[in-house]
Amino acid sequence: MTSISVLIVEDEESFIDALQSGLTREGFTVTVARDGAEALDIYESLAPDLILLDVMLPRVSGIDVCREIRSRSNVPIIMVTAKSAEIDTVVGLEVGADDYITKPYRLRELVARMRAVLRRRSVEPESGAVASSSTAAVSGEVVEIGEVRLDHVRHEVTIRGEDVRLPLKEFELLALLLENAGRVLTRDVLIDRVWGSDYVGDTKTLDVHVKRLRSKVESDPANPTSIVTIRGLGYKFEVPRSAVTS
Ligand code: CA
Repeated sequence: MTSISVLIVEDEESFIDALQSGLTREGFTVTVARDGAEALDIYESLAPDLILLDVMLPRVSGIDVCREIRSRSNVPIIMVTAKSAEIDTVVGLEVGADDYITKPYRLRELVARMRAVLRRRSVEPESGAVASSSTAAVSGEVVEIGEVRLDHVRHEVTIRGEDVRLPLKEFELLALLLENAGRVLTRDVLIDRVWGSDYVGDTKTLDVHVKRLRSKVESDPANPTSIVTIRGLGYKFEVPRSAVTS
């Protein structure tokens, strides 16, 4: 097996040292960029298989680096935030990262996430039109429940008649909830189906995505009536009465 090349974009020397030796030991080929501008330069010449991208960077921020690279390529990107509260903000900016991890993290957790992202990418088509393993199982092309309409083939979502552009994970999450409308989906099932059975770490990512989705789907996101929380279990897409009777 050829070695997977990873571009680490990080400005803290203590992290660089640990990552370089840890990831090399795991069999990855590691290249380091110490600021955002350098990251973009190295990205061009190296064409890495995966990018581990710190958010807080000198010169060009991790957010801008992610946007710039994403405008040109589908390369897997894992963003690194300094505190978990930052994830909300970063996810909210919809820069197109594949996953997020918060410092400090264990190398084992990072490597598991890197492998998961690489595996998911390898089963997805190259184009932006997404038919991942989780949405491929869906039977119908278009699902319409209440005020939400989702077109799997065209990868389009319409909410209250308005076209809404959803990032990949939000789209997959919504698709899964709609396909199972009226049924409770446990947190484990949602994480498993949207992020992969080998997803490790806390389940904050799920909550952040649900929150983002609610801000677009719900007419009153503070009092959700479509994507409802089933305490202690998970989430459910509530079928409105009008949709049942019509
Ligand atoms: Ca930093």
